[in-house]
Amino acid sequence: MADVPTNAPEHCPGTESNDAGKVSACAGCPNQNICASGATKQPDPGIELVKKRLADVKNKILILSGKGGVGKSTMTCLIARALAADSADRNVGVLDIDICGPSQPRVLGVVGEQIHQSGSGWSPVYVEDNLSLMSIAFLLNSPSDAVIWRGPKKNGMIRQFLSEVDWGNLDYLILDTPPGTSDEHLSATTYLKNSGITGAIIVTTPQEVALLDVRKEIDFCKKVKIPILGTIENMSIFVCPKCKNSAEIFPALTGGARNMSEEMNVEFLGSIPLDPLLARCCDEGKNVFTEMPESPTIVALKKIVTRIIDKCENSEMKTAEAE
Ligand code: ADP
Repeated sequence: MADVPTNAPEHCPGTESNDAGKVSACAGCPNQNICASGATKQPDPGIELVKKRLADVKNKILILSGKGGVGKSTMTCLIARALAADSADRNVGVLDIDICGPSQPRVLGVVGEQIHQSGSGWSPVYVEDNLSLMSIAFLLNSPSDAVIWRGPKKNGMIRQFLSEVDWGNLDYLILDTPPGTSDEHLSATTYLKNSGITGAIIVTTPQEVALLDVRKEIDFCKKVKIPILGTIENMSIFVCPKCKNSAEIFPALTGGARNMSEEMNVEFLGSIPLDPLLARCCDEGKNVFTEMPESPTIVALKKIVTRIIDKCENSEMKTAEAE
């Protein structure tokens, strides 16, 4: 048997390598010519398109969670509604990039709406005069259609969402991301690289099994250089609407999000209780600010959002240009 030279690459050297298109492993690859031309080493033109499109968006906030089901989509909707309700002059947009589980149209009460394309891009759906939404759910034939896409297709859709939606002037763009750290996060952080991400808010529940994944989320933000605005502990306590006794449904055996945040050196923004009325409002797409304005949940939410505004608008956050 002929000896194989020890320096012969057996696999694709990678599209960004100096060897791309030039080594024996590239022979017969349909992309050999394009790799050899050096085109694949150029920065993705989408990054500049996104920068141009989002030039009039002052604050870009990612909502992250380690696990599904901890209330990330609920918090995205509540934070967006609170920011919009606080001032009619503040324009807020929500971009739902949870491609496999887009739930913003439901929680914001605009299921079945259509998006329109104009000369200046896709028009988002308006929930209120100063609150707009773009979600992949608007592009599906039915709310129960599954989106089964591999990485490159998801990447393309996120690029389109970030570069083609005509938001107009926005004070805040809130991005609802999938749980964990996946293709969608990497795509979003890559495309937002030159546009500046104001920061990330990490949502968790109090129990250790959720907090473990939050630590990974914090680590992800540090690795891709996204500033962390803070953490929110959702479903922290349950207050019985009848007897008013409170109970910890998910016990914080290790001190909950507050302790974990201190330990990881990130700000703890506050807690939101487990509130059946909140769940019902979100399921029915109703506005919590008109349905339950005096509830302790809304009081807690307003405090958290005041702090977020404070951090963003008093330039406490140094806008990130993620690497
Ligand atoms: P995620 O986006 O993390 O998967 P969701 O926001 O979809 O989670 O929330 C999962 C379920 O929990 C939803 O039915 C939502 O209405 C409910 N929920 C979230 N937060 C609360 C809360 N504080 N009180 C009551 N129900 C909540």
